[in-house]
Amino acid sequence: MKKVLLSSVRGELLPLEKYIHVLGDVIREWSAPPVHVNEDNTVMDNLETYNALWALGPRFIPVKDAQSGPLERISLNELDLYYELEAWNPRVYDNVVELVSRDIPTPMVKLKSLSTGNVVVWAKLEWYHPFSLSIKDRVAWYMLTSAIERGFIKSNVLYEPTSTNTGLGLVGLANYYNLKTRVYLPSTTQKCIDYLFVAMGAEVVRKNTPITTAMIDSVILDAARNGAVVLNQFENDLNFIVHLKYTTKEVDYQLASRGRRPKVVIGGLGTSGHLSALSFYFKNKYGDVRVYGVQPRPGSLIPGIRRVETGMKWVRLVEVDKIIDVSLEDAFEAVLYVARRDGILVGLSAGAVLYATKTLIENNEIEGDVVVVVPDHGTKYVELMEHLLEKMCPDVPVTSIA
Ligand code: PLP
Repeated sequence: MKKVLLSSVRGELLPLEKYIHVLGDVIREWSAPPVHVNEDNTVMDNLETYNALWALGPRFIPVKDAQSGPLERISLNELDLYYELEAWNPRVYDNVVELVSRDIPTPMVKLKSLSTGNVVVWAKLEWYHPFSLSIKDRVAWYMLTSAIERGFIKSNVLYEPTSTNTGLGLVGLANYYNLKTRVYLPSTTQKCIDYLFVAMGAEVVRKNTPITTAMIDSVILDAARNGAVVLNQFENDLNFIVHLKYTTKEVDYQLASRGRRPKVVIGGLGTSGHLSALSFYFKNKYGDVRVYGVQPRPGSLIPGIRRVETGMKWVRLVEVDKIIDVSLEDAFEAVLYVARRDGILVGLSAGAVLYATKTLIENNEIEGDVVVVVPDHGTKYVELMEHLLEKMCPDVPVTSIA
């Protein structure tokens, strides 16, 4: 009996009900009998065993040779059953703090929809975090665990002004640590977000202001009055440092694994934490990296990002080559463009970043490896998407009724 790569063998694929008994037998016995193949590596007999192994996916399949005995079997370990998984991190964690801090790097994927002959666009997908399904879990984790470690959490109540994501990250982690949370949301955050917070057990206070930063002073006052702690993502330097220590190093490490390095970095500006850290690291490390920040066009509201003149701490401390204005409609156009070509439905701040990227590429302003940060996923914006689809695609019914 010899071992042959399963991928090199061909055979007829049967319906599951024809070989499920053999599949069960192979798992129970943890071994499989050999199959007979012809000179083209096509299975000639024992098709059920071939199908059972095809379904389980070991690296090798046992194949009969002149020495094979009639009852011989070979163990699944020898057939290398786990070979695909062994290349990966098993991703098992003892608790959610380990999960949020160690399940990194978040993936990066080349976007075929935006890449051209001389531009490769790499999207860093930040919805791969457990609490807010966004980049802001990093910030929530670093601010809260550092505050706990340093003994700054004197009461068991956290207050935070948030447009959504940092709040969701903090509430998730605070629940793990048995802390109570109150989030202050601006009037512009979608109504459905309240339900997410309430489901997580947080108290929600809606403020009558469109911008999150306009609430900071009153939230700090409320907290002082009620003995609560405000971690304040807008001023807390750990917001910048967590991206320097992890997000940027991940990007560098991930591109280096492909023998590449970034020439251009493009990201949205909210607190300015992630783009500032990326800019600081890459401009200091490589010198010739161009960095573009994206903000909403005057009068446009894009969840998660805002205009630089509304006040941001870290972007003032680093170099950014250009700040690009994007409207909500243009951001949504880019969301649809990428969703309909690469199949990933990103959030609206990511849409703004992708729109800016597409424009820079069309104007031949950038080339080489371009890193774009995708802060979160589009599913969080259904309420907003309903209005955008009605406004921008009026001829296309959202659902057709049969
Ligand atoms: N995009 C989304 C969806 C966000 O939630 C945020 C921040 O809350 C950003 C972009 C901006 O990130 P940063 O605060 O690091 O500037």
